[in-house]
Amino acid sequence: MTADQAAERELPPGKLAAVIGSPVAHSLSPAIHRAAFGAAAIDWSYVALDVPPGRADEALAAMRLFHFGGLSVTMPHKEAIAKLVDRLDPAARTLNSVNTVSWDRDELVGSSTDGAGFVASLAESDVSVDGAKVAIIGAGGAARSVIDAVARAGAVDVTVLNRSADRAEQAAALSAVASVGIVSDVHRADIIVNATSVGMGVDPGTAADDDLPCDPSLLRPDQVVADLIYHPLETAWLGRAADIGCRTVDGLGMLVHQAALQQRIWLGGDARIDTAAMRAAADAALRDSGCR
Ligand code: NAP
Repeated sequence: MTADQAAERELPPGKLAAVIGSPVAHSLSPAIHRAAFGAAAIDWSYVALDVPPGRADEALAAMRLFHFGGLSVTMPHKEAIAKLVDRLDPAARTLNSVNTVSWDRDELVGSSTDGAGFVASLAESDVSVDGAKVAIIGAGGAARSVIDAVARAGAVDVTVLNRSADRAEQAAALSAVASVGIVSDVHRADIIVNATSVGMGVDPGTAADDDLPCDPSLLRPDQVVADLIYHPLETAWLGRAADIGCRTVDGLGMLVHQAALQQRIWLGGDARIDTAAMRAAADAALRDSGCR
């Protein structure tokens, strides 16, 4: 971006943004964000910073000292950062988890874009959650963000199925439209989401029943089936769902769109964000790392 364009947007030209986490060396965020900055000719840099567990406060102090334009936050710092920022957006407050830090004048604001990124990835496939019944398999951090986001986007019924019942109850308590489900809820849902790590890193060609998050015979051809896993991109679960005739949505869309929403927060509502370039960069980075 030119200095004049930056002044119009009240941004100093050439800022630094970063992802903090540990480990962070294999994060796809630098490739995805650099692709977006490059496609929009925005003069920002983006780096990955390994911040050891327990030292999130120092990372925020560095953000204040060096006036980073924005931070992406990944494991293990999402909850710690939620306690350290000046303000939280509604999703981050509900989840007690932050994946994005931005400036509002001299205050640091924590946001959570993962769940909204998932909803945006569905929208990209012409799937609306407004009025939908959603079954979510899993109750970890990713599942929690999806439960919160689909409820905010108008899902009328969200059922949570998880191996550990206590975590399912905690996750279902996030929203008034969510409850702990039973296996038959998969059959009656409009949208089924695998938010577990079951199937991650598994070659679909050699997958066993244990590599599927639930029994695919419960699926109907008119359902939408999503997987948050993006390594491999077409999981065994998505493959079985496609064989049945379901519409499938892979996990890379969520990764790309949560990053696009971060860019929107950092750069402002009128910023041009090229999600196709971001997805191509993520795909290339996965191939380079041997994950595809
Ligand atoms: P997490 O907090 O560790 O939660 C893992 C979930 O998987 C829990 O519900 C856990 O059940 C379940 N699980 C693990 N092994 C299982 C097994 N053998 N059988 C049944 N359930 C099992 O992890 P997370 O951060 O939520 O991530 C979950 C998945 O989402 C990962 O594959 C991750 O790569 C993916 N993800 C994708 C994106 C994206 O942008 N696309 C973003 C975040 C995460 P218990 O509660 O019973 O342990």
